[in-house]
Amino acid sequence: MTTDKPLQDSRTKTVATVGPACSKKEMLVKLLEAGVDVFRINMAHGKRDEHNAVIQNIREASAETKLPAGILVDLAGPKIRLGTLTQNPLEIRNGEKVRFVRGIESSHDAELTCNYSTLIDEVAVGDEIVLADGLARLKVDLKETDQLTCEVIDGGKIRSRQGVNLPGTHLSIPALGEIDIDNAIWAAGQGVDFVSLSFVRNSSEVNQLKELLADNGSSALVISKIEKREALEHLDEIVRATDGVMVARGDLGVEIDIEKTPAAQKRIIKMCLQHGKPVIVATQMLESMHNSKQPTRAEVTDVANAILDGADACMLSGETAIGEYPVESVTMMNKIMRETELSFIASGTQVATHPSNAAWGISDAVIFGAAQIASRIKACMVVIASTSSRSALLKSKQRDYIPTVCVTDNLKTYRRLALFWGVIPVMSTTPLGETELRNFINQWVKDKTELEPGNPIVIVTDTEVSPGIHDSVLVARTG
Ligand code: PEP
Repeated sequence: MTTDKPLQDSRTKTVATVGPACSKKEMLVKLLEAGVDVFRINMAHGKRDEHNAVIQNIREASAETKLPAGILVDLAGPKIRLGTLTQNPLEIRNGEKVRFVRGIESSHDAELTCNYSTLIDEVAVGDEIVLADGLARLKVDLKETDQLTCEVIDGGKIRSRQGVNLPGTHLSIPALGEIDIDNAIWAAGQGVDFVSLSFVRNSSEVNQLKELLADNGSSALVISKIEKREALEHLDEIVRATDGVMVARGDLGVEIDIEKTPAAQKRIIKMCLQHGKPVIVATQMLESMHNSKQPTRAEVTDVANAILDGADACMLSGETAIGEYPVESVTMMNKIMRETELSFIASGTQVATHPSNAAWGISDAVIFGAAQIASRIKACMVVIASTSSRSALLKSKQRDYIPTVCVTDNLKTYRRLALFWGVIPVMSTTPLGETELRNFINQWVKDKTELEPGNPIVIVTDTEVSPGIHDSVLVARTG
């Protein structure tokens, strides 16, 4: 048995980005103990040997703490970046003219370059070019063979290699570039649990990554980062194709008007609930905790609202990667989650119920029924035996507050469960039949929880009647 996750932990999961502030094993241990469920490795930063070391450290931290830790490898995708500027930072002022030229190094203050060689060919007069995550904006005035002349419409200080966004331009750049493909193959070889793709625009890009991972022996779940207008236009097909979604508010807030991001977040989460796909809300959730022990009231409310919207997980970025208070940020995130969920439990409100009115599969209906029974008899938990994690996801998406323990003998499933709302992953070293599962869970309750004997528990498994289909619900008692 390898799980020490408390039964009363927050139902909403925490994803933490790894960076220099937390890449050592000792710090990863602290973060797991503070409530991290999934660690994100951002491939836009760092080198291969550093990423290898981080994975090794996460696995060791998870083994040492007996806490499950999923690993999410975040592919940078077609992120366009400025080349080298003549000054760093370079201030550009409203009304000034600057030129985008070919190459990757500016030779004049009013000259900009970037790493996307066909930018000049694909941008049209009148298009907007956003620099440095929205810090500065340009409008294209004139297009010539080897340069674009742009007017600065929103001035600011820009730095070499900061982001370049083209919100209204359809770009031919592939979703999976050479570096992404290489990183995805590496991630597959490392046996990571989730791979996310930045700047997804349509479902064929999602399928391309799925195929690449499968061809390289990986069953990692693909998480599509929604951060482009085109992704919002193709949201339904992307959500159907993907295994999970990230509301990547950093780039989304640049690609669409920033004031439109709250409504977009709600729409994305709602669609994920409808399709039964896990959804992570990301970026600037506790931003001020980069260098403050306390978040702002607005940040606390933002995390709570993401939970009320129906997010499965909230993500910390710079707060844990480069911030001064990584542990405090995770602790705070979990406090907000627990308190918000308690207010739900007290009011008897559920974020969502089963998404579909169409005929249900047997497992769906049995798991739904098991949760109903558990709620009627005030069971202390629902236990699900799961090999593939599908049944755990079904239970997760019902969004009831009865603690759900998912027992699996599959290490990949155990790690993957870390992202599923309300599911506590428990690892068994052997496959368990009905009777063994009952004995196993009895022992787990004794060893790992404070529950008194005699508490009702509801156990959901498959039987030899229909192997692989959850067709049995059993009410037992602890002890
Ligand atoms: C985002 O844009 O919100 C995001 C999560 O992606 P990245 O951190 O790669 O910019």
